[in-house]
Parts: sequence; structure tokens; C-alpha cells
Amino acid sequence: MIKNIFFDRDGVINNVVIRDSRVESPRSIKEFSVKEDFLKFYDQVQQKDIKLFVVSNQPDISRNLMNNHELELMNDVLNSRFNFAEILYCKHDDKDNCTCRKPKPGMLNHLIQKYKLKKHESIFIGDSWKDMEAGKSAGIKTVFLSQPYNSELGLKTDYVVSNLFEIIHLITGV
Ligand SMILES: [Mg+2]
Ligand SMILES: [Zn+2]
Repeated sequence: MIKNIFFDRDGVINNVVIRDSRVESPRSIKEFSVKEDFLKFYDQVQQKDIKLFVVSNQPDISRNLMNNHELELMNDVLNSRFNFAEILYCKHDDKDNCTCRKPKPGMLNHLIQKYKLKKHESIFIGDSWKDMEAGKSAGIKTVFLSQPYNSELGLKTDYVVSNLFEIIHLITGV
């Protein structure tokens, strides 16, 4: 039975942004929109006794492509609409060599320890190989959300789904 769900943010909770035909993250609150799929999924799982977390790489902060204020505005949207136990961001880039930037499991490990979560009751849902690697390194189950922009062949994940409802049975147990 799943009691803790970690979500990647961009592409799972909110829509990605297509910029010059590249798939990227929103850089301003104007570009930030929550996915319908997530809204419906959330409404089903939030009634259960399940802790929800967000762990998100936001390297555009380090790259000076987005400022903290815009990220805070997006965070305000999440906190006003949803009840996440905690939302963590890694604002670093590869060169910073931090321990939190996915595919490293730093953010997941931190939350697992802080909230004393059982790993076998925890899943991480993401749309990138970095999410899957991070989840695997943290020792929890991984769910790859397959989207038109991200078919990543050869990924080792516990589940591959094309919408969040395909894993609802893991959470509700039916
Ligand atoms: Mg993502
Ligand atoms: Zn970091």
C-alpha cells in the first residue's frame, strides 16, 4: 500500500513549456499552468491518508533564466490549491555539484529521513530519466509518466504509465 507520493513538478503537476521547439520549464508565473490530469488525480488521492511531496530541479535559477520571485509565485499557486507536506527545489546546475540535483537522490533522502517514511510505501512519479534514477537510488518505487515529448527507451522503472490514473490502484488498493 502506498502512503507517500513524491511528484516531480514540471510535466507531472504543471504543463511543460515548448520554447523554440524544445521542452522546457516555465520561467514565469504566466507560463505556469496545472495539468488537468494532475488536478483529477489529486482530488482522488488527497482524501486518503497519503503524504504528498514535490521534488523539483529548477536550474534556470542558477542559469539566471528565472528569478526566485517567479518561482515563489508558482509555489504559492501550488500551496494555495494543494496540500503538499513539503515542496523542495534544487536551484543548482550541474557545475555546482550539489547533492540535491536529480538524478541524485538528495531531496528524496532528506524527506524520507525527515518524515520517517517507509520506502516500500513510497513512490516517485516523474517524466524524466533523472527522476527514475533518483527514485531508484533512494530505494523507492518509480513511476515514469510517458508523454509525447519524453519517450525514453531502456529506462528501468517499476511502472510506465501515460496518465496518472493508471496507478490509482496502487494507492487505493483496489
Ligand atoms: Mg519533469
Ligand atoms: Zn541542488
